[in-house]
Amino acid sequence: MRKPLIAGNWKMYKTVSESVETALALKPLVANANHCEVVIAPVFTSLKTVCDRLEGSNIKVAAQDCSTEVKEGAHTGEVAAFMLRDVGATYVIVGHSERRQFYAETDAHVNKKVHAALQSGLIAIMCVGETLDQREANLAQDVVSGQLIGGLVGLTPADLDRIIVAYEPVWAIGTGRTATPEQAQEMHAFIRRVFADRHGKSAASALRILYGGSVKPDNIAGLMAQGDIDGALVGGASLQAESFAQIVNYRV
Ligand code: PEP
Repeated sequence: MRKPLIAGNWKMYKTVSESVETALALKPLVANANHCEVVIAPVFTSLKTVCDRLEGSNIKVAAQDCSTEVKEGAHTGEVAAFMLRDVGATYVIVGHSERRQFYAETDAHVNKKVHAALQSGLIAIMCVGETLDQREANLAQDVVSGQLIGGLVGLTPADLDRIIVAYEPVWAIGTGRTATPEQAQEMHAFIRRVFADRHGKSAASALRILYGGSVKPDNIAGLMAQGDIDGALVGGASLQAESFAQIVNYRV
């Protein structure tokens, strides 16, 4: 039985005090959400304070990225996965499409980040997803399977239960244009099949696959009703505690 997970990606929004304010406002609103795991991903500068303020609550904290480098060293501007673990993060998002698009991250980078995350004791939420051009050229499955396989190179069977995949079609991120539940389900089922081919059926049936792309309080239930959708990665609608709580507290 896969426990759903709803994660809020705050992207590059909120100062430390704004992050704390939103996190504390969210706390009572999701306190009874036992049906799913609740995760928020603030900016690096807010991580430590938010982790401290949420200690003992049912909200876990993710970083939005980590370095490909596992050990400390001369890597200006980078933050290692073990440093994220050190401040209390339990998850890290890797391979978000904004990083792939605007910071030239390749599957090889994503793969190194996945390894760094796992070695440091974090759970990796690895994002995959096609652009509109790729979908219109009928390449969506090729792109997504390439990202999935490329990002997970070299993992051992023991690593697999600390991997979560987020399917985020680029054309649906921040656009207000969500994939229909059927479109999302089709890709999620495909991802599970590709994962099963590489890692076996039992690992595939345990894999949590989140959907991301303009998830809102009014479309979450339809998405969560699909058999292969195990949660959501939410951007814009996670910035306000109330709307994120409504998503967390969806009822199918
Ligand atoms: C995201 O940033 O991962 C995302 C899905 O954003 P939005 O919900 O705003 O489309």
